[in-house]
Amino acid sequence: MTSMNKSNLKKFKKMLQDRLSELLNEVDQTTKDISGTERETFADPTDQAVVELDRTRYLRFKDRERKLIRKIEKALSRIEEGTYGECEACGSDIELARLEARPMTELCIDCATEAEGEKKKSKLYGTEAGPSPAANLL
Ligand SMILES: [Zn+2]
Repeated sequence: MTSMNKSNLKKFKKMLQDRLSELLNEVDQTTKDISGTERETFADPTDQAVVELDRTRYLRFKDRERKLIRKIEKALSRIEEGTYGECEACGSDIELARLEARPMTELCIDCATEAEGEKKKSKLYGTEAGPSPAANLL
């Protein structure tokens, strides 16, 4: 169980909901901007290129935002389940300061650091990270 108290949960829920509606608004606005531009016709091919560039930027933005939105939705459902604030990897409490900075985080600082290190290692050696020592104990 998480040691997160009710008032903290309420605070994080609000933070997450605010961030979510902010993101949804942004996505909505960008969609409107792009489709608005697309409806116009361009005689100048340079203008057309600018539109293409905007589209690429928009798609990249959308991909990133979509992932973030999914994370926030997941965090919100974890609040409902009562598991919010627990590290997904080791089950210990995530530091409050860390949650305040990144309310949608799923890992405690140790696990996040380890995950980063594994990523770097596998990149360095060009291989996937092997089984963790804990897996060998099972
Ligand atoms: Zn952890």
